[in-house]
Amino acid sequence: MRAWQVRQPGPIPTAPLSLATVPVPEPGPGELLVGVRACGVCRTDLHVTEGDLPVHRPQVTPGHEVVGEVVGLGDGVTSFALGDRVGVAWLRHTCGSCRFCLRGQENLCPASRYTGWDADGGYAEYTTVPAGFALPLPPGYDDATLAPLLCAGIIGYRALLRAEVPEKGRLGIYGFGGSAHLTAQVAIAQGAEVHVMTRGERARDLALSLGAASAQGPADVPPVALDAAILFAPVGDLVLPALAALDRGGTLAIAGIHLSDIPALNYQRHLFQERQVRSVTSNTRADAHAFLDFASRHRLEVTTPLYPLDRADVALADLSAGRISGAAVLTV
Ligand SMILES: [Zn+2]
Ligand SMILES: [Zn+2]
Repeated sequence: MRAWQVRQPGPIPTAPLSLATVPVPEPGPGELLVGVRACGVCRTDLHVTEGDLPVHRPQVTPGHEVVGEVVGLGDGVTSFALGDRVGVAWLRHTCGSCRFCLRGQENLCPASRYTGWDADGGYAEYTTVPAGFALPLPPGYDDATLAPLLCAGIIGYRALLRAEVPEKGRLGIYGFGGSAHLTAQVAIAQGAEVHVMTRGERARDLALSLGAASAQGPADVPPVALDAAILFAPVGDLVLPALAALDRGGTLAIAGIHLSDIPALNYQRHLFQERQVRSVTSNTRADAHAFLDFASRHRLEVTTPLYPLDRADVALADLSAGRISGAAVLTV
């Protein structure tokens, strides 16, 4: 089969990814073999490819927003059948017995493992997934539309929970790529007033067309004080204007797995009056199921520039250069 591999992590211009021909993987006990139909292109794939994240599996195949069909079953699998449409997402293993797993925070499990980082992912014709972490998918969406929901959607949903937007509250969204454009729709459907701060006129137009109350530049002051904010852009400098834009008691959730350094905060300007800043780490399976259930009840509009599998390197370069509006998807 064809599979992209991170040969030598480094900046995109050094061509860190290469397309290889490798054997189709064998599903281990309890695993599914999945024929990939579509795989989303996430900023985390860029962090794995460029080496912002340490190497966990040498020559890993990236990709953790996989929509595919079950084409093989490992020993002991009873929860899925051949031909089922399934999703393969970022989280693929937790221990189930540590104190974090036992208190409903499996996203913090120290033994957690991730698709497209610890194990080969979906920039390929086939991939495998433990059946307990494969996700049933909502009807009513085509394969390419579903793919970005599996990370961009799920992580954004957890970030929205972490931001604790009050009823009918004002939510600021900093950065407006794949995850943000889904999260904005969920927040608006739940009654929030959404203000978007982002570079790029197309992204601002998209935000307004999806129902945002305002859209302005990345560090601009929103027209109202915010009850909550989510930082999607991986830019630590933006933590300061985002905190300064919060009203009393407001919460800033930082959604990325990687963030450039945060400059020094000023206590009065950025934190006093019980403002708080929080990180968002991966997601639990409960978050994934809750978000996909939401998507089955509310039609989400997903902007998905499509790239054939053979052009995954171009898709990542376009993501790196900020040339993608919405969430790019590889089709197989
Ligand atoms: Zn655990
Ligand atoms: Zn992702």
